[in-house]
Amino acid sequence: MTVPTDVLIVGGGVAGRSAGIFTARHGMDTLIVDTGESILRRNAHIENFPGFPAGVNPRQLLDLMGEQADRAGCERHDGRVTHVEQTDDGFAVETESGDRFRTEYVIAATKNTVDYLETIDGVGFIDRGKTFVDTDEQGRTGVDGLYAAGRLAEKSHQAVVCAGHGAEVAVALLEADDRPFYHDWVAPDGYFTDRGRDLPPGCEEISEEESRRRETKALEAMCDRFESLHPDEQITHPSL
Ligand SMILES: Cc1cc2nc3c(=O)[nH]c(=O)nc-3n(C[C@H](O)[C@H](O)[C@H](O)COP(=O)(O)OP(=O)(O)OC[C@H]3O[C@@H](n4cnc5c(N)ncnc54)[C@H](O)[C@@H]3O)c2cc1C
Repeated sequence: MTVPTDVLIVGGGVAGRSAGIFTARHGMDTLIVDTGESILRRNAHIENFPGFPAGVNPRQLLDLMGEQADRAGCERHDGRVTHVEQTDDGFAVETESGDRFRTEYVIAATKNTVDYLETIDGVGFIDRGKTFVDTDEQGRTGVDGLYAAGRLAEKSHQAVVCAGHGAEVAVALLEADDRPFYHDWVAPDGYFTDRGRDLPPGCEEISEEESRRRETKALEAMCDRFESLHPDEQITHPSL
């Protein structure tokens, strides 16, 4: 059976999860296929990711980003993508274990793994000891519907930069999809509408009461996630 989706993200590290949060929140069916080996898992304690003034366990950070992608509506699938092929209306994607997907868009976010892209005409690769995909600033590869995000698109080797690029690529994809002017914003009641403006697509206005309700829920969730040390063991370099 071939599973259809709008957006298939290959790689669920920081760039892939971040991209998925944006495409799924905009209502696109989004599937993240991942082997679960984000290089961030090797970090011992991440101290430069904004929002965590005392730092955060990197495996905890990945879990939180995964949870956020799930809440946004992403599907996540464990597996190694081995083949991506262009079709008349997008791409056919296959994993090592034989799972098949068809999708309108692909976002490749696999750091330096490119083998599954090698059969697509028009993708440029850059070899600097590690291999990268040649893209413009917004991750466009030159092949319609195929994007690359994060380290794979030669972004600097920093988690926040790669996460930010995942978001930027997702927004570029949404624009290419001819979706109406789009801001994923939650604004206070009346911010647009009390000024005689329509609520822009993707925006939401919420009351103070709703804002407090959401804050309370968020507080409960974060207290729960940070109640104890993260259980996953430190990952080291495979050669050690
Ligand atoms: C020891 C160490 C410490 C670090 N410390 C910091 C730090 O303190 N601060 C900081 O900002 N950055 C740090 N980094 C760098 C940071 O981890 C990376 O820059 C960032 O994770 C890159 O994000 P990415 O999404 O591009 O790649 P990754 O997070 O590596 O994600 C790539 C994903 O693709 C998946 N994948 C690969 N091939 C396939 C395939 N064929 N099919 C499906 N999935 C696939 C992998 O499983 C992985 O989940 C550190 C890195 C290391 C090694």
